[in-house]
Amino acid sequence: MGHKINLLPEYLANQIAAGEVVQRPASVVKELLENSIDAGAKHIKLLVKDGGKTLIQVIDDGEGMDEVDARMSFERHATSKIKSTEDLFNIQTKGFRGEALASIAAVSRVEMKTRTENMTTGTLIKMEGGKLIEQAPVQTPKGTSIAVKSLFFNVPARRKFLKSQQVEMRHIIDEFQRVALAYPEIEFTLIHNGNEVYHLYPANTFKRISDIFGKKMQERLLPVNEKTDYVRIHGYVGTPESAKLKRGEQFFFVNRRFIKSPYLHNAVMQAYEGLLPDKKIPAYFLFFEIDPKHIDVNIHPTKTEIKFDDESTVYNILRAVVRHALGKFDRMPSIDFDADPQLFNIPPQNKGNSSKTPSIQVNKDFNPFQEPHAQPFSRPSEKEIEAFMDFIPSSNTSSSLNIQETSSSVPLPSIQWENTYIVTTTSSGLMLIHQHRAHISILFHRYYEMLKDEKIPSQELVFPMETEFLPNEVKLLKEHKDWLEKSGIRIDSNADGNIEIKGIPVGFQEEQVKNFLHQLLAYWTEDVPLEGDLLNKFLALSLAKSAAVPAGKSLSQDEQQQIIAGIFSLEEPQYTPDGQKNYYILSSDEVKRKLN
Ligand code: ADP
Ligand code: MG
Repeated sequence: MGHKINLLPEYLANQIAAGEVVQRPASVVKELLENSIDAGAKHIKLLVKDGGKTLIQVIDDGEGMDEVDARMSFERHATSKIKSTEDLFNIQTKGFRGEALASIAAVSRVEMKTRTENMTTGTLIKMEGGKLIEQAPVQTPKGTSIAVKSLFFNVPARRKFLKSQQVEMRHIIDEFQRVALAYPEIEFTLIHNGNEVYHLYPANTFKRISDIFGKKMQERLLPVNEKTDYVRIHGYVGTPESAKLKRGEQFFFVNRRFIKSPYLHNAVMQAYEGLLPDKKIPAYFLFFEIDPKHIDVNIHPTKTEIKFDDESTVYNILRAVVRHALGKFDRMPSIDFDADPQLFNIPPQNKGNSSKTPSIQVNKDFNPFQEPHAQPFSRPSEKEIEAFMDFIPSSNTSSSLNIQETSSSVPLPSIQWENTYIVTTTSSGLMLIHQHRAHISILFHRYYEMLKDEKIPSQELVFPMETEFLPNEVKLLKEHKDWLEKSGIRIDSNADGNIEIKGIPVGFQEEQVKNFLHQLLAYWTEDVPLEGDLLNKFLALSLAKSAAVPAGKSLSQDEQQQIIAGIFSLEEPQYTPDGQKNYYILSSDEVKRKLN
């Protein structure tokens, strides 16, 4: 018994290594997708169940493996991608460490089916906690399918720390988007719990971006393209006016590998200097192509950080090319980001009419608009807004404007355009108000004030809504019972200890409230400190978003008037609480210039 150093048993070594590579379901997704790309796949399908806790499966039509390789692929440091030290400095593939599959297999149950082009039968391999439990011939299409089941089943401490399904799925979608953006020529499908989340057909980068982030992106992107001896940078950056307070549309890729770089982010932000409203972040999708000998990707186990051998050159080139792209944008000089709320000097429209500010009748119960001289409120901080943004329910078109007939004392001439914009005149120009956003801002203020002082009226449900919450969620809901009640959401626990929803805020639908609760819980379980005033703002914004009149809805003169009056009475009329523009003022100068 002289010595005390033992080599770790293989399975234990793998489990420890797994801690580095496999942090959560999204890490598995990343590794499997990258392997499929390395295998030359043209179609990649990702199937996920329960945010990846139950199943993560990637099916590809890549080169596949023969039976020896299939077995070998689960050995640690087994890689087909690096054969010499020389290779290490010229990496073209995503993987090269040969530890992903071994690590994944160490902490889950894996089932792999794979076949190469020139074999007639394929290979099935089943692994459990890093041990081989079955290997057999199998009929399977060319390519590889790897199913990872019950992740962390043998590491309860880690399984316990997985977040809610929604949070884990959010991370998976992030990884999926990163890979899909870098490989637009590959067809990708993502299916979660049987529902198709994405089906992306082969495309160019521009099309792929809008397939992922929505068609609206197309009008917001400015191309970037520059090549020097050291690096080529291409891709797209967002127009300054489309910048958002929310992060999530910022992507750097180096040799098609997604990377995070606060340093390069800074270079981009410098290029936008003076063009962005406070705290807003532009979208960008920037691809760097560089000789691998100039970079070191080996500095981070999950490889999202990278080192260039000449960082400051990259920084300077990047800043310059983004500036250049922005300079080409001809609408830029006319963007008035600092539009001053003072601009709302409404000229008397008709001689016969008085020039009073519009006044509006306040319905104490549920008139969505607040009084003209409401208490000022401060804009939420960036952190608060970021917290708002991720889990806001998408706006629902079912609710109506909820405006009662009222006679506004000053009828401003207005018309509705494209059933979305209310057009009216002000002393500084033609004002185009986005009806949905403006209404959100107005309602937000109203609800927020209500929540501060009183209760939101609750409507009793005839049949209490049964819900399925996890035990820790039930606990959280109970802890916040009083606050929920104040918000019009009445909950009770039933005989099985589960939560029943007995009352919901007036004017809302059960589904909306259920979604809202799930989103709230996703926050709480993620330990985002959503409490007190911030909680009120979060609720106010969620409610406002689902209650606001949708874009595309035809509004009566009266309803248009109410929105105009409502927006004029806000302390900060320019932006919605989550930072979108409420209106645009077209100045006569601008019109003159255009008509030149
Ligand atoms: P690495 O990707 O770093 O080489 P992995 O553990 O991810 O290591 O994979 C090990 C090996 O298994 C790879 O080098 C490759 O040869 C093989 N492999 C993994 N996934 C696939 C796949 N989808 N298609 C073909 N071969 C694969
Ligand atoms: Mg790999």
